[in-house]
Amino acid sequence: MAMETKVEIHGREWKQEDIESEISWARFVIWKSAVFPKEGDHANCHICQWKIFKSDDAENGSGYVHREHIWLCNECYAKFIEVSP
Ligand SMILES: [Zn+2]
Repeated sequence: MAMETKVEIHGREWKQEDIESEISWARFVIWKSAVFPKEGDHANCHICQWKIFKSDDAENGSGYVHREHIWLCNECYAKFIEVSP
């Protein structure tokens, strides 16, 4: 049985196994740092569902994007992608 690992994202606790497949996928694709461009629209982080939208607050207003429509929040990128071997 796999050991249960907990991770905290935006102050919320997640079981790593629940997001493991999203994390593995995200490590294989190319991300670019971006500011969310569209007023009145939003995206959700591919890993934690954090809402990303046009905002001056960098935590909500920016992240990392793949093919212009799949987003990661800054926190997931820093925690799971930047650190990947
Ligand atoms: Zn996230």
